[in-house]
Amino acid sequence: DKFKNMALKEELLRGIFAYGFEKPSAIQQRAIKPIMKGRDVIAQAQSGTGKTATFSIAILQSVDLTMRETQVLCLSPTRELAVQIQKVILALGDFMNVQCHACIGGTNLGEDIRKLDYGQHVVSGTPGRVYDTESYVDNLSFPDMIRRRALRTRAVKMLVLDEADEMLNKGFKEQIYDVYRFLPPSTQVVLISATLPHEILEITSKFMTDPIRILV
Ligand code: AMP
Repeated sequence: DKFKNMALKEELLRGIFAYGFEKPSAIQQRAIKPIMKGRDVIAQAQSGTGKTATFSIAILQSVDLTMRETQVLCLSPTRELAVQIQKVILALGDFMNVQCHACIGGTNLGEDIRKLDYGQHVVSGTPGRVYDTESYVDNLSFPDMIRRRALRTRAVKMLVLDEADEMLNKGFKEQIYDVYRFLPPSTQVVLISATLPHEILEITSKFMTDPIRILV
């Protein structure tokens, strides 16, 4: 299959080619279409397979740019990965007017809030900044963006959990469940993980409906 035959938006296709991709990798061939169709997808894939571009392309195809609300939330285990994902989305979306913000720890809270208030179609973050259960002191000073109401979740239609096994290894299980509780019940879930241990399968059975499993 080719990118050209995937029924992608013209400006997204331009972005893909301008980024230097010529043809879809194995995971892209198998996962982009089901994600675009709204299916829940479990992809067992390592980095190096083209997993980031897989969900980034599907995200860019799915966002409604006329509505400046957060429609996709992507969680990943490290700040570096969250920023990397933001960069890929912005690069592939170079010909689209997409707003994508990296919501990570170690950055200025006020700046985060200002960017979120401006309106972000996609938020790529680490579980801590998006929803922190450890470090808040009282109900009025939540450090995380969801309970501050800076990150509004009512328009979210897709949750991406990248390197889900790594997120669990880092102790983010609680935060992932906490974030999920704030999302509309119909939210589509895409999970990428190199391994599928019990705790991952628990997440897939609680968050997902009739998921497609892809092994690359
Ligand atoms: P990832 O698996 O997301 O860590 O991506 C691994 C590398 O493959 C990155 O450097 C991507 O830019 C590159 N890549 C992803 N998709 C393609 C593609 N369709 N054609 C060429 N390179 C790609």
